[in-house]
Amino acid sequence: MRIVKKLVIAIDGPAGSGKSSTARLVAEALGYRYLDTGAMYRAVALKMLEQGVDLQDSKAIEEALRDIRIDQNEKDGQVRILLNEKDVTEAIRTPEISLWVGPVSENPTVREFLVARQREMGKKGGVIVEGRDIGTVVFPDAPIKIYLTADLDERARRRVKDLNGQGVDQPEEDVRQALAQRDERDSTREHSPLSCAVDAIVLDTTELALKQQVEKIVALAREREKPKKTKKNS
Ligand code: C5P
Repeated sequence: MRIVKKLVIAIDGPAGSGKSSTARLVAEALGYRYLDTGAMYRAVALKMLEQGVDLQDSKAIEEALRDIRIDQNEKDGQVRILLNEKDVTEAIRTPEISLWVGPVSENPTVREFLVARQREMGKKGGVIVEGRDIGTVVFPDAPIKIYLTADLDERARRRVKDLNGQGVDQPEEDVRQALAQRDERDSTREHSPLSCAVDAIVLDTTELALKQQVEKIVALAREREKPKKTKKNS
């Protein structure tokens, strides 16, 4: 039997850079689990919005977090996000939540809560984790760190296509502006801003086909999974 190490693979990058599609396919190829941390921030944002929590009120935030359980499971080959056992996969993808998630994810108490949950979910390895601060904060020792980027125009085109696929029609210019604002907010916030880890491999996906970027990461992982040879009698 070939013993392989099950790794943690960190994928970070701005909105619409192809993190989710890439991470999902890499996970499938390697037989790893896939963890979408953006979905976790979105689920917390949904909960805060539904409960009308004042984001300036740290006590109210702490109280709301005490009552939150986020899980991820797979159904019919699709990743589903559960908030207190309720399936919120579609509910967290609305433009309203995309706006609301910014201030929620800036909150240090929310981040501390989710980072602990993410580390717990990834601690056994064999997982590909996607987000903004995975290689820098959540799993700084991850053996493979990827930073995906792409032109803003290209990212906006992809997002419009995704939204169309979900039956949502939004002008490309609006989507472009919303992405640019979210990037700005994510990159300049005080706590765990979006940034490229010094030891991350940068892949610009503007011109790269999805298949190519997946193959690159899978090849890297296969290499790192191999047990290191030990010298006999040394
Ligand atoms: O990945 P997605 O675009 O769904 O993420 C939604 C938002 O969640 C991001 O714009 C960011 O504000 C926040 N986020 C974060 N840290 C992560 C993942 C997402 O702050 N690790």
